[in-house]
Amino acid sequence: MISDRAKRIKPSPTLAMDAKAKAMKASGIDIVSFGVGEPDFDTPENIKEAAIKAIKEGFTKYTPVGGIDPLKDAIIEKFNRDNNLNYAREEIIVSCGAKHSLYNIAQALLNPGDEVLIPSPYWVSYPDQVLLNDAIPVFVKTYESDSFMVRPEAITSSVTKKTKALILNSPSNPTGLTYDKKTIETIAEIVLRYGIFVISDEIYEKLTYDGFKHVSIASLGNDIKAKTIVVNGLSKSYAMTGWRIGYAAGPKEIIKAMTNIQSQSTSNPTSISQKAAIEALRGPQDFIATMLAEFDKRRKFLIGELNSISGMSCLSPTGAFYAFPNTSKLYGKTTGDRTISSSSDLALYLLEKANVALVHGEAFGDDAYIRLSYATSIEEIKKGVDRIREAVSKLARRD
Ligand code: PMP
Repeated sequence: MISDRAKRIKPSPTLAMDAKAKAMKASGIDIVSFGVGEPDFDTPENIKEAAIKAIKEGFTKYTPVGGIDPLKDAIIEKFNRDNNLNYAREEIIVSCGAKHSLYNIAQALLNPGDEVLIPSPYWVSYPDQVLLNDAIPVFVKTYESDSFMVRPEAITSSVTKKTKALILNSPSNPTGLTYDKKTIETIAEIVLRYGIFVISDEIYEKLTYDGFKHVSIASLGNDIKAKTIVVNGLSKSYAMTGWRIGYAAGPKEIIKAMTNIQSQSTSNPTSISQKAAIEALRGPQDFIATMLAEFDKRRKFLIGELNSISGMSCLSPTGAFYAFPNTSKLYGKTTGDRTISSSSDLALYLLEKANVALVHGEAFGDDAYIRLSYATSIEEIKKGVDRIREAVSKLARRD
């Protein structure tokens, strides 16, 4: 009955894990959740007020498909201010979340059989969005020893005549790691050499630590800018996941195609959210620093704790709000008649026996890891890691 295309994809595993943990919680179980990919902070008051004002003023009708001009202008100012990038209105589209912008890009760029290079581990939606467009995800493995930055030679050896684009995500979900400028420069050279596009997902750009400064690949020069579509959004930086505002900037032909596609699918993003987004981008920015300082405390605490659990090791993340510990040393261990042989076995064991929700690394393309979001209070983090430590200590090596 359903199409081959629909059969090819799976529901978002991170949302599925979250749903399962929420269901356990609803049935009265005290779950500590490291599963969610959204800030636990409330949307700042000034942003909410802007939305309320929009409703009261009757700004509740259709808007131009790709977003209202004042929002596009606020986005243009943001690119200018933060990334040293200059875009015109026709190079910007506002969508219903960054995920929607990414989907529009896939629809606008990919023909059946086109290949898209996806450094792995990757954010869960990239491969499925490629598959939904009858194109082929080509995974390029990255290594913990390289801070999960893709090796330039691995890109070169994965390029074929069919390669259309490379997806870059820094700061990264799930690893929490960031690309340094030098590596980005090398990647830009390769991309230009092969004439492929870069889809640069920069949604976590504001969430960086240890003084790390995000550099957008598009800002490295006009040639690479012409080959890059930058994706960003308000979900993470302004605690606005439910408002559904994301955006993309790139060559105007691509943006126009994306806008046409959007016009035949969702139409404009919510009018009210667009007004709120203008306030977010143009209003006071101190909320971000406050949120970041809190994330930083949690990050340091969580990484310290994870590294003290026997069988786990975790790099210190430089961005986003995820820890991605290597748990492969635990595989092969047993408890009762249960053997932990993969990241999903471990995640399930921790959910059922320790009442801790997190996501198995396999969902992100690397079974050696699990992902913990630290977008939750220090008290919860402490409770959660204590439970993990205890559950892990009960695992025994099979003789
Ligand atoms: N890209 C990455 C890497 C993400 O982690 C997320 C959210 N989990 C998104 C894009 C999508 O964000 P949104 O659609 O809420 O803007």
